[in-house]
Amino acid sequence: MKQPNRPSPFPLALWILATTLSLADLILRLTDGHVIPDILYVPMVVTALFCAITAVYLRRFLQAQKAFHAAQKAEDTSADPRVYPPHSTFHTEGEPVMIHYLLPADGRFYKANLHTHTTCSDGCKTPAEIKEIYKAHGYSVVAYTDHEIMIDHSDLNDEDFLAITSYEVSTGGPALYGDFGESPCYHLNFYSPIPNQTDYVCPNPGYVWGNARAYADAQDYYKGDHQRIYSVEGQNEMIAEAKAKGYLVSYNHPNWSKQPYTHYIGLEGVTALEVYNTGCAVGGWTLDESDHVLDEFLMEGKKVYPVATDDNHGTHDMCGGWVRFKAPSLTYDNIMTAYARGDFYASWGPDIDGLYMEDGILKMDFPADSRVCRVAVHSASRWAAARYGENMTHIEVDMKGFFDSMKHLNYPADRGYFRVVVFDDKGRKAITRGYFLEELE
Ligand SMILES: [Zn+2]
Ligand SMILES: [Zn+2]
Repeated sequence: MKQPNRPSPFPLALWILATTLSLADLILRLTDGHVIPDILYVPMVVTALFCAITAVYLRRFLQAQKAFHAAQKAEDTSADPRVYPPHSTFHTEGEPVMIHYLLPADGRFYKANLHTHTTCSDGCKTPAEIKEIYKAHGYSVVAYTDHEIMIDHSDLNDEDFLAITSYEVSTGGPALYGDFGESPCYHLNFYSPIPNQTDYVCPNPGYVWGNARAYADAQDYYKGDHQRIYSVEGQNEMIAEAKAKGYLVSYNHPNWSKQPYTHYIGLEGVTALEVYNTGCAVGGWTLDESDHVLDEFLMEGKKVYPVATDDNHGTHDMCGGWVRFKAPSLTYDNIMTAYARGDFYASWGPDIDGLYMEDGILKMDFPADSRVCRVAVHSASRWAAARYGENMTHIEVDMKGFFDSMKHLNYPADRGYFRVVVFDDKGRKAITRGYFLEELE
């Protein structure tokens, strides 16, 4: 992008000088008692004209000055690796080629279930049984998100398994047709930044129910009288407190929760949205493939990441939806950093091995057993592209049309995005997060 030049003050200075001289001349004439009043109209009109031209130049100068400083500030920010951790690199052999990694090039993938219930709330398996089942299915990470109770399960960790400390909070709304069971609700998961941080968000032990009650009674620090409010403002208050404590927040199963657009679009600070929830999917709420909600957030410039989770309570709803984090190694800090940065994708079928942009061409790699038959790349604008085949292991999409449409339609850098959906031959999907112009340029 071309940077604006520092504006020159000379034209403005010349007009200010001309206006001052003309004004001084007019004042001298007015104070000279011998001048005939009629011939004063000419210097008066000239002075007024000079004043108007100077005002126009002053306005232009101030606007140019503002644009220049804004561009400088943006350049300073983008140069700061703490604001945008670099994903790009250059090949140095032969011709230099710009590669922008949309999933990190280094590290390895770790399969995770970010939504799990155990016997600590209303699940049917103990935390240790959950670990064994998920490990046997190739998972490295389980976030234990029991209802209303947060327990550090680090005692289950081993070199191939990591427990994330987290919990799920529910806020019920007014019944739509008099039946409490049909009332809309908010379900949020809070993920702790470190294993042994278990202080509650807006606590009130009055909301604890079922098996969790016994654990809550043992937790002295679960004190408070926060009243949950079913409104965007009420939820934002909780999310703000969660963010202040360093927690990441997911907004769960919007379709099961029976929530229309106006109930969720105002949420601020949500890290992740469940685009797939195995418990809801196998239970018949197939609309809990809710990636249209992802676009609703992204179109508002809210950089929410898609997650697929199990939300398992029984045995029929395990190992159906997951995310694959790309991280340097399996540590709590690395996984939470990958979660916060969006270094992962959601899936309930296909796997993605590589995702990067090489000289404006989007490239994706899939393992041979993923059975990928369609890849759809769509954007904030109407620009989209698709690739079809059988057992595809690699696809390429020229992104020139995307960048041209963003430029043509004047999309701001924090609103223009594309994302990718991968389909396998059973119709199951993998979904990437949205990649915005501001991180692609
Ligand atoms: Zn829930
Ligand atoms: Zn749940």
